[in-house]
Amino acid sequence: MKQQPSFDIDLDKHYKATVVIACDACGHESRVDLTSLSPDVPIRCRCGTQIGMTPHAILRAQQQAAKIRQSYGV
Ligand SMILES: [Zn+2]
Repeated sequence: MKQQPSFDIDLDKHYKATVVIACDACGHESRVDLTSLSPDVPIRCRCGTQIGMTPHAILRAQQQAAKIRQSYGV
């Protein structure tokens, strides 16, 4: 089974969610707009490693973003 990528969610002042994904190979954090995440399009780290987000991981990211928005009261 493939390991799920680890990520954090960042919300900017307009409550736009950015997913911060750490690369397993080099530790560099790639920042991707949550709305542009797709299971078909891997995120390419600057070291060349491709990080694939599974549909499940994207769902988890969306849920996490919704939770943060809720805690902000929006
Ligand atoms: Zn990397």
